[in-house]
Amino acid sequence: MNTGSPRIVVVGSINVDLVVTLERHPRPGETVRGRSLTVLPGGKGANQAVAAALLGGHVTMIGAVGSDEYADTGLSMLTSAGVDLRAVRRSPGTTGIAIVEVSDDGENTIVVVPGANAEATPALVDSAAETIADAAVVVAQGEVPADTTEAAMRLGSGRVILNLAPVIHLNREALLLADPLVVNEHEGALVLAQLGGREASDEQSVVEALLECGLASVVMTLGAAGALVSDGGGIIAVPAPRVDAVDSTGAGDAFVGALAVRLAEGSGLEDSVRFAVQVGAYAVQHAGAQPSYPALDDDLPLQA
Ligand code: ADP
Repeated sequence: MNTGSPRIVVVGSINVDLVVTLERHPRPGETVRGRSLTVLPGGKGANQAVAAALLGGHVTMIGAVGSDEYADTGLSMLTSAGVDLRAVRRSPGTTGIAIVEVSDDGENTIVVVPGANAEATPALVDSAAETIADAAVVVAQGEVPADTTEAAMRLGSGRVILNLAPVIHLNREALLLADPLVVNEHEGALVLAQLGGREASDEQSVVEALLECGLASVVMTLGAAGALVSDGGGIIAVPAPRVDAVDSTGAGDAFVGALAVRLAEGSGLEDSVRFAVQVGAYAVQHAGAQPSYPALDDDLPLQA
């Protein structure tokens, strides 16, 4: 943790991922034998906070875990990465859980039980109002209640990064506080529909149409193709480094964490996206989400 650098506040989910590998998925009513079980800390909020802290960010996490045995697992990498957890609530009940089934044909099914993430309330955000208002960058996603995400965005007085994944319905005025909105191609199309934007057939025109709706800036991640970025003055395509991808889980979260670090340091949006694309490409070369993220002294793959 770098306590001298501007602060990043992440408001979002903290989960434990129970990852089961199996030959094929069971049909309803059927029991199949799984091959392996891996228990990993996850949740988009926690992933992004860990990614930012490992890259030297001074990060505070706002969220909630339960009072069960999974709480410590959910917080384990946040703790080791040096994230400030004083604003994380421990509520009665279960920690958020994602049961991820990965079959041999590569098809995943995921069941998410939000558990304590529902206790990440606007009141919890309000109790950290000063910390949020002082932050250089506030980061929010779509895995906690919509009014919590909106409250965090409104309290931010620096830059607000909204990674609207999954796409939840936010009040229009709150959504337009995003600078940037970070989405993949599917999410971008859904947000455009939510904002009542014009028809857009390809990724570039979805970005253009989102800006026309009043967003100050938009970043669209495109997997192996990298990302698009625009703050209104034309769309810049940032290619991803060519790498051997083994597991893309959490790559988008690594991207957002890296973006937050560079923006907090005062870099411009395009330069920050160039760095984030390298960090995303690093993450896909390693298994899991949080365990796949680079630290400051790791060599990042070079841009294509
Ligand atoms: P999401 O999982 O949110 O849809 P993406 O799949 O777009 O996110 O990935 C986020 C970022 O991770 C990309 O912008 C890119 O930088 C990196 N990335 C993802 N897949 C690959 C890949 N196969 N090769 C190189 N980089 C990748």
